[in-house]
Amino acid sequence: MIRIFICPGCGRTRLVSKFLKAECPICGTSMDTLAVTYEAWVELSEEERKQISEEWLQTGEDKYKKGNLFVTKEE
Ligand SMILES: [Zn+2]
Repeated sequence: MIRIFICPGCGRTRLVSKFLKAECPICGTSMDTLAVTYEAWVELSEEERKQISEEWLQTGEDKYKKGNLFVTKEE
């Protein structure tokens, strides 16, 4: 399973498979997971991804952590 990680320091996002933890390649901060599925993430444009990470940094992670925004259920 591939997870989307985001850095709480700089907003950098990263795709990580296998590992449950990741460090930011830019600032070395340990990254949080984003509640966006890989399937949904790859459908997004570069702009939309940037928007999400900016919003995540500004509003805190709640929406993208527990919300079902962009999260699709596997059926
Ligand atoms: Zn960072």
